[in-house]
Amino acid sequence: MDEGIKRIVIAGAGQAGATVAFGLRRGGFGGEIALVGDEVHLPYERPQLSKEMLRPESAGHRSIRTRAEFNEQRIELVLGRRVVAVDVERHQIQLDDGRGLAFDRLVLAGGVSPRQLPGGPHDAAAVRYLRTVEDASGLCADLETGGHVAIVGGGVIGLEVAAAARARGCEVTVIEAADRLMSRSVDDTVSRFLDRAHRGKGVDIRYRVLVTELRDGRYLELSDGSTVAADTVLVGIGVTPNIAGFDALGITDAAGVRVDAYGQTALQGIFATGDIASQKNENGFGRIETWANAQDHALNVARNLLGERVAYESPVWFWSDQGTTNLQVVGNATRGRRIVRGDERGEAFSVFWLGEGDRVTGCASVNMPKDMALARRWVKQGNRVDPHQLAEPGTPLRNCAL
Ligand SMILES: Cc1cc2nc3c(=O)[nH]c(=O)nc-3n(C[C@H](O)[C@H](O)[C@H](O)COP(=O)(O)OP(=O)(O)OC[C@H]3O[C@@H](n4cnc5c(N)ncnc54)[C@H](O)[C@@H]3O)c2cc1C
Repeated sequence: MDEGIKRIVIAGAGQAGATVAFGLRRGGFGGEIALVGDEVHLPYERPQLSKEMLRPESAGHRSIRTRAEFNEQRIELVLGRRVVAVDVERHQIQLDDGRGLAFDRLVLAGGVSPRQLPGGPHDAAAVRYLRTVEDASGLCADLETGGHVAIVGGGVIGLEVAAAARARGCEVTVIEAADRLMSRSVDDTVSRFLDRAHRGKGVDIRYRVLVTELRDGRYLELSDGSTVAADTVLVGIGVTPNIAGFDALGITDAAGVRVDAYGQTALQGIFATGDIASQKNENGFGRIETWANAQDHALNVARNLLGERVAYESPVWFWSDQGTTNLQVVGNATRGRRIVRGDERGEAFSVFWLGEGDRVTGCASVNMPKDMALARRWVKQGNRVDPHQLAEPGTPLRNCAL
């Protein structure tokens, strides 16, 4: 590692930021590390917000590490403070209390914020978003009260909340602009399963409708002329990157902070990781908003900060728990030759996607975590499979590889 690097500052104390900090220590960095975050909590992982934290017996949230562990590793925590500007010339960030913090290397790890419901008002008591511990606690209290929960957006967060709300006896309506659920990340086989599973639990799902107005804080006017009266409105319609303060540096694009394969931005010594990072993909550049990316990309950035030169090459992988359904997706699960393994009208099956030469390029598994364990390896290694064997559930999956 460059001996001149004495102080690394990480802007954003979430999963990716904390992972970079501990990764640096594990890799032998002996200099100063400061982790700056605008939340008051120790860094925590967000998947618990739409799962464990919405259960009636929830005991609150878990942090990634204890304060003692941060102290032991000499990671300085600057919590409840926002980074508002970066002075590239002077190698200094500015905090919202006016303080400046010097850095030799800077990592931007500020994540994303929920996209606001168009047609507001955004501050109506009934409207909730789900990104923070406070959001989850508020939503959990609403679910306790019961009533009607309207969910705008049939993506991962909306559907996890739908399942949690139904489990707690709330009436639930999902309002989705597209003609199927999770349309960006899975194909219609999986969307149909999700529709069946949620309807089977009593969720009302409306497709091809937009919210045109939120009247009196609780009446959602929809583009088909109907109205949904809700006690709680949960908005899960995507996110925008937290780039305020960095947007004048010439390192951002429409998706976030653009990085190369090493997590480095166009500015020497400034890196980005986690949800905020705009990474190269098959269609150009885009964010990868998954737990695994916040982990693996952050560790990769730590290695590159330490002087290794390692390109990040992990296929996209995420899971979603929606009631009793465990869905996992690896790679691109919407494109290529589609092979369904198992009964797509049943409760458990996998949809494999094959590219050129029958290489596995993606997979979505529904209640088939064992299939996914192998699918992840195959996608990563570019393994070829026999499509006929793959379609035959009686053939052990490992025997399908060529
Ligand atoms: C409700 C929910 C459920 C999820 N469930 C799953 C799941 O089941 N499976 C899965 O794979 N992924 C899931 N994810 C996605 C996963 O949690 C994210 O991809 C991950 O949290 C990204 O980590 P990050 O560190 O980049 O961002 P974050 O964890 O959001 O951390 C960024 C931090 O930086 C702070 N910050 C922002 N701007 C500034 C600034 N200027 N100065 C200082 N601090 C700043 C933010 O407030 C935040 O604390 C879920 C996400 C949510 C919200």
